[in-house]
Amino acid sequence: MDDINLADALEGASAIRDAELFSADKGHLKRRTFAIISHPDAGKTTLTEKLLFESGAIRLAGQVKERGERRRTRSDWMEIEQKRGISISSSVMTFEYDGLVLNLLDTPGHADFSEDTYRTLTAVDSAIMVIDAAKGIEAQTLKLFEVCRLRDIPIITFVNKIDREGRDPLEILDEIMSSLALDVTPVTWPMGMGTDFRGIVQVGAQGPVRLTRNTRERVEFASLDAFAADPTLATDPIFGPSIEGLEIARGTLPAFDVDAYRSGHLTPVVFGSAMREVGVRDLLDAISTFAPSPLPQPALPAAIQPSGKEVSGFVLKIQANMDPNHRDRIAFVRLTSGVFKRGMRLKNVRTGKDMKVSAPMFFFARDREIADEAVAGDIVGIPNHGTLSVGDTLTEGSTLTVTGIPSFAPEMIRRVRLPDAMKVKQLQKALNDLAEEGVIQVFRPVIGSSWLVGVVGALQLDVLVSRLAVEYGVEIMLEAAPFDTARWVDTDDAAELDRFVKANQGDLARDREDRPVFLARNSWELSYAQKNYPAVRFTATRERH
Ligand code: GDP
Repeated sequence: MDDINLADALEGASAIRDAELFSADKGHLKRRTFAIISHPDAGKTTLTEKLLFESGAIRLAGQVKERGERRRTRSDWMEIEQKRGISISSSVMTFEYDGLVLNLLDTPGHADFSEDTYRTLTAVDSAIMVIDAAKGIEAQTLKLFEVCRLRDIPIITFVNKIDREGRDPLEILDEIMSSLALDVTPVTWPMGMGTDFRGIVQVGAQGPVRLTRNTRERVEFASLDAFAADPTLATDPIFGPSIEGLEIARGTLPAFDVDAYRSGHLTPVVFGSAMREVGVRDLLDAISTFAPSPLPQPALPAAIQPSGKEVSGFVLKIQANMDPNHRDRIAFVRLTSGVFKRGMRLKNVRTGKDMKVSAPMFFFARDREIADEAVAGDIVGIPNHGTLSVGDTLTEGSTLTVTGIPSFAPEMIRRVRLPDAMKVKQLQKALNDLAEEGVIQVFRPVIGSSWLVGVVGALQLDVLVSRLAVEYGVEIMLEAAPFDTARWVDTDDAAELDRFVKANQGDLARDREDRPVFLARNSWELSYAQKNYPAVRFTATRERH
């Protein structure tokens, strides 16, 4: 129950924090809530550790020991994670930097698109995109970027691993511009790469600039022009060409424009090396200087303003059984307005029920702590026994509903087979729990008795089987189902829906909230149904209300 994440890799880590910053009067304007998006192996884990370290959230006592193996066994709490060596569950880390409270939401890094990742990105105000200097934009980065683009989330780019042989920096910038249709402005520029790496120089700064090679070696120059004009550097076989590249970038790329960044049209780019701690401080400075404080949250009947007085928030994630011995279940709530205080009563708008929040938690680098006060932008963990579901809106009483947190129609549907019929109750509970967490969707066919589960990515099926066995002691088998897609059905014409339901009993199911779902065997069948029942809407996403 104590250790939660990445920082576990660091022996003797401890959190330092400034109580004053968490007080209400500083408010939401001091919050920066962001996520890191990347392709597996680009260096997200390393960068996260270094951000925490550089900000002072964790102190390094001695060296990181037995990295890799040990890190995995300590921080990955699910068996499946250990098997695959990937991080599946996203969580949150809160730390301070430069008088601000930074809330970093961890997105799962595996290649399968998951709803969890999507929802994490609906709960942030900005993102950091980490790319590998040798590989450029990779498939998963692109996918996650597209999700960010849907809301025009501002993005700061970190080009990692410049201590290795990589692509030419101009080529990397060009790729970002052309494949993501973003303007770019470098914040730092590398002098050589790989074995030739000599450091990064700050590009945007007015006045003195630093050439930084690692945590110890820094040289200061009066200005960037003075650096670029330094005669010994200009003739150096490594510095010379790098400075030339820098000058081309300065001459051709737009100057940094904070509005263009905040509207999602321009990305500042930090070249660095997470592993060598180069550029990490520049990245933190870019976040604290440019990244937006909490933005208004889309909701019905009207958007929620972060400066609003009434406390509101929404559940972006449920994480159950973080510690199998405690059977805990934590709802991660992103606050969207007001000053939340421990002990407050909040209403779950979906159920209409009130709950007293007596033990809300903050998640720091290494530990959890009771949250006495929190404001818009903060993520608090609320322990509960099933009263909260993903997408729920919490308020002090009004009936606002946060929007934009969808469920996706599953792309893979499987039938659940339970060899031990004695365990049907446990299975039912487990499927319900996991559906609430958003790991899977559960459907009950109108005809027949078996359960169907639907997922967006194949990995979720492995997670399901593994978690059922490990956490609930239920062994299941998944069998092919004759369906390959599902659509929620809905209409303004009740008689028409009735006609549709009667004629398609064999292909209908109910979701967890008893809404009718049409299961189609293939896309032809779906379009056939659409053609025959023009008054019925077949929807692929469903807002969770
Ligand atoms: P993730 O999958 O994105 O979380 O990536 P990791 O942080 O686990 O890093 C993947 C691999 O790249 C690990 O072996 C890291 O040690 C290595 N790595 C990360 N950052 C750097 C860097 O700046 N330079 C070099 N050379 N290797 C790095």
